[in-house]
Amino acid sequence: MSLLVVGSVAFDAIETPFGKADRILGGAATYFSVAASYFTHVSLVGIVGEDFTEKDAAVFKGRRIDTTGLERAPGKTFFWAGRYSENMNERTTLATELNVFAEFKPLLPEPYRKSEYIFLANIDPTLQRSVLHQVTRRPKVVALDTMNYWIERTPEELRETLRHTHILMINDAETRQLSNEHNLLRAARHIFKLGPKVLVIKRGEYGAMMVHSRHAFTVPAFPLEQVHDPTGAGDSFAGGFMGYLASAGRVNEAELRRAMVYGSVMGSYTVEKFGLDRLRSLKRSEIHQRARHFSKLTQFTL
Ligand code: AMP
Repeated sequence: MSLLVVGSVAFDAIETPFGKADRILGGAATYFSVAASYFTHVSLVGIVGEDFTEKDAAVFKGRRIDTTGLERAPGKTFFWAGRYSENMNERTTLATELNVFAEFKPLLPEPYRKSEYIFLANIDPTLQRSVLHQVTRRPKVVALDTMNYWIERTPEELRETLRHTHILMINDAETRQLSNEHNLLRAARHIFKLGPKVLVIKRGEYGAMMVHSRHAFTVPAFPLEQVHDPTGAGDSFAGGFMGYLASAGRVNEAELRRAMVYGSVMGSYTVEKFGLDRLRSLKRSEIHQRARHFSKLTQFTL
């Protein structure tokens, strides 16, 4: 099944209580596509600058990731810097340098236009919608991520894009901000009126919750002895979720629940090391092993 992602490919500077990295490969679309490629073929749409080398591009090589849609433009690659609090639950953005991203106009290569599964990573909602306009076949699933910046500054554009979205994948603070509701179930009901039929709320060390019209389903975060860098956990979650769903080829309650687990598996591996270090060195057997671990972790009898 064809899975399309549009979003940032970046260099990140990261500070956590466990260490510091001045300039490592990152970006929402990077984490997403590497995570999803363990499950299915991924078509990547994004932009990088002249400073993005063959060595950087190696992260996509030898995987099921088509980079025909990764544009190279004059200038520098998007740069983001962030610092995590002592308990790693809060993140402060120290710098966002758009660079080539400022002029980004996503253009889908012809073969991408028939994609059935689409993930619109966190970018300008108008650009997210422009991707949907280029798709020639009605997609099976459109999932979307966004952030406070777009919720506050472009609410109308975001609302218009949400009308074409099936699954909204955001964190709890964004859920509350978008809906003006503190309670997450009430927030979900509000969000369903905007378009999405499924809301997936990413809650960091508290796991993730999925809500749709009839049910709620939760998965814990995998208990880890050491978390080194939470960057990219949300996008890796989305990659595992959408990658699994596309590989299953069906969207129903059971598959959505499994997608939640595979999303959590990929997020949990990402945070074990800095940047993409752990995610890019995974074996498929490790993914299935941790999924089984999740099953044991949450099993009980009455
Ligand atoms: P996550 O930790 O999953 O929320 O995503 C972290 C990734 O998002 C980092 O690798 C950043 O490069 C990227 N990122 C941070 N801010 C933005 C932004 N405003 N637009 C697009 N991507 C961003």
